[in-house]
Formats: sequence, C-alpha cells, structure tokens
Amino acid sequence: MADTSYLDWPFFEPRHRDLAARLEDWAASNLGQIDHSDTDAACRALVRALGDAGFLEHSASETGDLDVRSLALIRETLARHDGLADFTFAMQGLGTGAVTLFGSDAQRQEWLPKTRSGQAISAFALTEPGSGSDVASSTMTATRNGDDYILNGEKTWISNGEIADVYTLFARTGEAPGAKGLSCFIVTPDLPGFEVAERLETIAPHPLATLRFKDCRVQATSMIGGPGEGFRIAMSVLDVFRASVAAAALGFARRALDESLNRVSNRRVQGAPLAELQMVQGHIADMALDIDAAALLVYRAAWTKDSGAPRVTREAAMAKLFATDRAQEVIDTAVQLHGGDGVRSGSAVETLYREIRALRIYEGASDVQRVVIARQTLAQHHRG
Ligand SMILES: Cc1cc2nc3c(=O)[nH]c(=O)nc-3n(C[C@H](O)[C@H](O)[C@H](O)COP(=O)(O)OP(=O)(O)OC[C@H]3O[C@@H](n4cnc5c(N)ncnc54)[C@H](O)[C@@H]3O)c2cc1C
Repeated sequence: MADTSYLDWPFFEPRHRDLAARLEDWAASNLGQIDHSDTDAACRALVRALGDAGFLEHSASETGDLDVRSLALIRETLARHDGLADFTFAMQGLGTGAVTLFGSDAQRQEWLPKTRSGQAISAFALTEPGSGSDVASSTMTATRNGDDYILNGEKTWISNGEIADVYTLFARTGEAPGAKGLSCFIVTPDLPGFEVAERLETIAPHPLATLRFKDCRVQATSMIGGPGEGFRIAMSVLDVFRASVAAAALGFARRALDESLNRVSNRRVQGAPLAELQMVQGHIADMALDIDAAALLVYRAAWTKDSGAPRVTREAAMAKLFATDRAQEVIDTAVQLHGGDGVRSGSAVETLYREIRALRIYEGASDVQRVVIARQTLAQHHRG
C-alpha cells in the first residue's frame, strides 16, 4: 500500500483528501478492466471511464479556475496505477488549458462540457519538426484571409494526434518576430487541409502524431485570446500543467518503491529477506527520501498557484526537474532490486522504466528547467 501520510500535510484541504480517497478506490476497481492491447482504443475507453466517474471535471473549468492540487493528486494517483490513465487525464487538461484560462465564454461553453464529460478528446499542438524547446522559432503560419485564417505547416509529437476531437494549436500570425508573433487557435480534425502525416511509435506506447496543415481554413473566431498572444498563452498553460507532470513522475516513483518493498520483503538471499541487507536498506532510504522531497516540491508549486500566485514558473520548474529526474533514479533502483525480473517485459517496474523517460523531455526538458530556475534565481538576486 502506497504511503498516504503526505495527505496530512497543510497544503491540502479536506476536499483534496476526499478526492484522493475516492480516486484511489475507483482506480483500484476499474483500471484493471481496461484492455491496453490497442493503445488508441484504450485511451478512448479511459477518457470515457474517467468522464463517467466525474474525475475529468477537474481537468478543465468553465469558470477559468483550475485547482492545481487536484490536478496533481489525480495525476499522481493515476500514474501509480496506470501510466496511460494518467496520460489521458493529463491531455484532457493540457489540450483545453488555453480554453479554460484564456477562452471566451462561447469557446468554453462549446468545448469544456464535452471534454470534462469524456465525450470529446483534446490535444495541445505546439511542437514543430524544427522547434521543440525553442518555441519562439515556430514557423507554422496562420495568414488572415477575410473572416478566416489559413494554416500552413506541421506540428509534431502531438499527444492524442489522430484521436483528438479538438486541438489548441499555435501558429505564427506575424504581429512581431519571434515569441510575440504567435497566436492560439481551436482546430478540429474535420477541417479540409488537416491531415495526420505520420504516427510516432515510442518506448511507452501513447497516441502520438505529426500533423500537416495545407491551406487549412479556420474561422477567425476560433482564435483564443488576441493576435500575438499565443506564446504567453502557451507558457501560462505550461506553467499550470508543469507541476502536474512532476506529480505523474511522483506517482511512478511511489509505485516503484511499493513494488520494491514487496520484492525485498519476500525475496530471500543467503537465507534471509533482501530487506535485511543494509545496502538494500540504503537504497530503500534513498528512494523514500527522493519521493518525499519530490512531493514537497510538487505540492509547494500546486499550493502556491492555488493560493493566488499569478505565475509559479520557478516553483513548477523546480518540481518538474527534481521529480522527473529523481523518479528516473528511483525506478532504476527498483529495476535493480528486482534482478532479472526487473527487465522482464510487461513487469510493473519494466513498464515504469519505459514510462518515466519521456517526462524528462516533454513540457520543457530537464536542462531547459535548469535554465528557467537559474534565470529566476539570478533575477531575484539582482532585484535585491
Ligand atoms: C512522449 C512525448 C509527448 C509529447 N507530447 C507533446 C504534445 O502533446 N504537444 C506538443 O506540442 N509537444 C509534445 N511533445 C514534444 C516535446 O514538448 C518536445 O519533444 C520537447 O519540447 C523537446 O523538443 P525537441 O524534441 O525538439 O528537442 P530539442 O528542442 O531539440 O532539445 C533536445 C535537447 O537539447 C537540450 N536543450 C534544448 N534547449 C536547451 C536550452 N535552452 N538549454 C539547455 N539545453 C537545451 C536538452 O537536453 C533537450 O532535451 C511530446 C514529446 C514526447 C517525447
């Protein structure tokens, strides 16, 4: 049983403890029934199941508020049970984050009831073949033409690419060079000129695609916010969701520790359980310490945002960098403690080993988080 003592920390209110307990019960009884042999079908089933159970209501908000502690608790709990369940929940939030935070009332009313109930799947389309970490160099264009914009270019590494019903997409409208010339649009896959160019396979299967847009006409009313506000919108959305990536890493790490505790308690070496060896105890101590330290950073970032901070760039970057990097280490130790069974295909720790890797790359790679933390720390020093 995973340690839940952190729920007593002062970051949480009774409603968070209630949410964590309800989700834990639901996940334990429902997630095992989802067939993962077809990844797209599994994602669709997971979105429907999470929607029917009411948990997707926390992924987006028609009033523009997102409770980051709830987002983080849900991601942590789902990741501990099933990485794909965490992915589907996360994408419903990230894909509609721009609508929740910056959409008009009409845009919110059109899309959020559908994504929050699980009737529609959403995606976030920012990365391009030539620009991942360097978002300001995006080249996909959106050219004004009467009441429409015409989209041309490619987006790649788009989670839920091909299965999503709605995409929030960033393209260059050219008000200024670089970051200030991007805008955000709501795009649906039925638009002529929208094409899935390629599906991308990864070490942990998720629906991922490259999308191609060729003279794809989208109504100007589909723009979220104003022209030139796309970069600010994208960064604000990532600011909220980055702490939740850290929470997912925390969930993976907690599962790795649980699996390791079972293993070292039951596996006998030289006539005694592995857990009696001091060197093994040293590994268990390091894992438990990394997990608590990561949890403190995750819920510090979430609580700070929920307490009204307009941005939590530094806190979220620290949480993501630490929680994802340490989860990688915790999971690697878990594989080691499992011996040969640790690399057996389909075992829990082998699955975690593949699942964790991408979290150190997407929504800002680890070194990019270091750059962000250093900039913020230096700026604070210079302000005095
Ligand atoms: C599984 C997965 C899911 C994804 N889902 C989505 C999605 O839904 N939507 C979306 O838009 N994108 C998505 N992405 C894309 C992801 O956000 C990018 O892969 C990420 O931003 C890195 O961009 P890149 O791959 O182009 O790598 P690059 O930008 O080429 O960076 C490669 C490496 O260079 C180093 N680096 C880069 N910049 C700096 C810097 N400033 N300082 C120091 N080092 C640096 C880092 O080590 C980095 O890992 C996803 C990616 C993966 C793997």
